[in-house]
This record gives sequence, structure tokens and C-alpha cells, in this order.
Amino acid sequence: MPEYTDWGSLTAACLQCRACGLCETRRNVVVGVGPKTAEILFIGEGPGENEDKQGEPFVGRGGQLLDLALHAVGLDRRRNVYIGNAVKCRPPQNRDPLPEETEACAHWLQNQIELLNPKIIVCLGRVSACRMIKPDFKVTREHGQFFEIGGRLMMGTLHPAAVLRDPNKKGDWFADFVALRAKIREVCTHTELIDPAEFA
Ligand code: SF4
Repeated sequence: MPEYTDWGSLTAACLQCRACGLCETRRNVVVGVGPKTAEILFIGEGPGENEDKQGEPFVGRGGQLLDLALHAVGLDRRRNVYIGNAVKCRPPQNRDPLPEETEACAHWLQNQIELLNPKIIVCLGRVSACRMIKPDFKVTREHGQFFEIGGRLMMGTLHPAAVLRDPNKKGDWFADFVALRAKIREVCTHTELIDPAEFA
């Protein structure tokens, strides 16, 4: 049984959280975005500057790139995927979240997973893949592979910021989204993939 049994009480409590030092410098707690019926959950690392300002995950340049990749395979953050982060408050200077911050925040993410009950979890970047899939997950070698953990399929791929830093990685990254689309068709029961032409 999750600590919070509905999204309203979970969100209200999360917005008040002061369980780690990141609460001191945040503007917003970035809880997540997407329909609560989604069968696919994306987990990033932590909010950046734009996300902290707007209170929504992946809204800067990395977010635009993520939206492009999602749209290309028929997915959309407002319609059929939920997007959250390993930590809900911005680490200063966009550093990686510290292990103790990820640990302090883990129960929020776990509660979200229990409420959403996704069939597939996609970890964007090393921090969330090491947390969700296995501590020694290597993004360069193991991206795009599906692991069955606790009755769900989990896949790790590059963080959009890493693709922005090295555009040569775009091909591999996009191939992971194509593999995700195939897996959605195989295991998801009510996810309707959107015609990419709708986003053109
Ligand atoms: S990062 Fe997570 S644990 Fe830390 S204050 Fe924000 S919501 Fe709470």
C-alpha cells in the first residue's frame, strides 16, 4: 500500500517536502507531468533552471529534444506518457543529485510508480538508470535493452542533455525510442500511439 493513495494528496505533500538540502535553493518542486493513466513512465535526473522556474520537467532545450523524440514515435507528455525525475528539486548549478538527495527523494518516486503502475519505465541518464535498473548500469553499453524488474520492463537510455552535448549520439538515442515503440505495441494494452504527422 503506498503512503499516499491518490495523486492529489501525494502532490500536496510533495510540494511541502523539506527532506533534503535541495529545498533551500529551489523555486518549485517539480513533481511530474502527464496523464495518470499512462502505461509508460520516463524518469530523468533532476530539474534544471527552466524546470525549476516553470515547475515542469524537461522544458528547456533538452525537453524540446525529448518532445521531438517522443512525437516521432507517437508519444506525447500530455496524452500517453508520464514524466518525472529522480529528485524533485533543482540541484544547484545543475550538478548531479547527490546519493543522499536521491535517497531522500526516492519514496516520492516510488509512490508515483505505485499509483501509476506503469508497464514500462524508461530511465533518462545514468542517475535514474543506476537507481532503477542496477547500480552499475552503463548507459554507453546497455542503453536500449529491456530489463524485467519487479514485474515491469525497464530501459535506460541517454539523457537528452547528453545528446545535446554530443549530437553524434542522436542515432543511438533515436533507435532506443524506436525499440520502445515496438515494446509498447507488444505489452501495453491501452496506449494509443499518435500519428507523428499530428505534430508536424
Ligand atoms: S529533492 Fe525530494 S527529498 Fe529533497 S526536498 Fe525536494 S522533494 Fe524533498
